Amino acid sequence: MTLIVQKFGGTSMADPETIGLVADRVAAAQKTQQVVVVVSAMSGQTNQLVELANAVQETPDRREMDVLLSTGEQVSIALLSMALKSRGVEAQSFLGSQVRIHTDETHGKARIKSIDVEIIESALNQGKVAVVAGFQGVDQSGNITTLGRGGSDTSAVALAAALKADECQIYTDVDGVYTTDPRIEPDARRLEKITFEEMLEMASLGAKVLRIRSVEFAGKYQVPLRVLSTFKDGPGTLITLEEQKMEQALISGIAFNKDEAKITIRGVPDRPGVAYAILGKVADENIEVDMIIQNTGADGTTDFTFTVHRNDFKQTMDLLAPIATELKARDVHGDDRIVKVSVVGVGMRSHAGIASTMFKALSDEGINVEMISTSEIKISVVVNEKYLELAVRALHREFGLDQQKAD
Ligand code: ADP
Ligand code: ASP
Ligand code: MG
Repeated sequence: MTLIVQKFGGTSMADPETIGLVADRVAAAQKTQQVVVVVSAMSGQTNQLVELANAVQETPDRREMDVLLSTGEQVSIALLSMALKSRGVEAQSFLGSQVRIHTDETHGKARIKSIDVEIIESALNQGKVAVVAGFQGVDQSGNITTLGRGGSDTSAVALAAALKADECQIYTDVDGVYTTDPRIEPDARRLEKITFEEMLEMASLGAKVLRIRSVEFAGKYQVPLRVLSTFKDGPGTLITLEEQKMEQALISGIAFNKDEAKITIRGVPDRPGVAYAILGKVADENIEVDMIIQNTGADGTTDFTFTVHRNDFKQTMDLLAPIATELKARDVHGDDRIVKVSVVGVGMRSHAGIASTMFKALSDEGINVEMISTSEIKISVVVNEKYLELAVRALHREFGLDQQKAD
């Protein structure tokens, strides 16, 4: 018998009615397959718990935060198991610590190290559906850990890999991976297939339909991964290896990220060690830096620009003030009203001119490009946040991704 892992996100677990729809899907699947279900907390629940914690302690204790946040998924596994039982389906719920999803000790962004599959396998062999709490695990001292926001995707793929499942199905509120977020571009088109590599870029550049780490895992362990809708039947989108030849689109999608902020240190001396003097201090504070640009020097000085997560913006600005003085820089300028828009496609490898097409489309709309970065299969630009929708839609049109232009 085939074995599948089905993951249902927060919007699918929003209320008793949608939980009923989830239970119907699981019940239908378990008639012909063994099914392991991974669920997220009910929609909005994790945010509410974060707010509660912030209201009680200024910087919430990381261990206790994980104890708190993991309760969202505990509610979901119990409710879904009940809904299944009410449909005559044998089901049993499992917390991460009961399965034993072993993680490292990094509270808030723990990484899965290994998963014991015996308990789940024994439930499956008894004809039960195993309902597992996503987003959580347990470290070697028995502390509850969580995997970071959106982490249930990772739980599902990791379980599918450990159980050698035939497919991992991610059920959400859209019926697949689209050429861009359909909430921004109504003409966005569902992709039949997308390569792991492209999906990884899309996810890391802001498309939150799948969490980056889950795609990494699926690629590494070759777990067939599919994104589908809980609310609408259809084939969804299959994430595939590149070899399985796909209709070779030049660009597969447009991703965007609204969570970044840009910082420029102007007039720093153009000499060895300056980049290190700036970014070393930032790294020491565990602040992740994304794009980095250093201009060519003029008059012995240069401008140094980089982006960080918006949540880290203020801390980074505070950190840089004394460094700028020490370096005798002219000033530090910050802007947290920027967005990063990226075009992604493996076809880029073998085609020239993508960048110029992109810049022309943006310039035709009068959008000023503030930063640029490229890799083999993507080009990203930073623009003012007021241009987000305009930029995404202009690029979507320019690269022929709109629905009416398909096929
Ligand atoms: P869940 O609660 O099921 O985990 P998420 O909100 O995390 O769902 O992810 C689904 C959302 O991702 C969609 O509603 C959509 O707005 C957004 N999204 C962003 N980029 C894309 C894309 N390229 N294709 C599909 N959905 C996307
Ligand atoms: N409940 C967690 C979150 O909201 C994990 C998830 O939904 O995947 O981030
Ligand atoms: Mg999600």
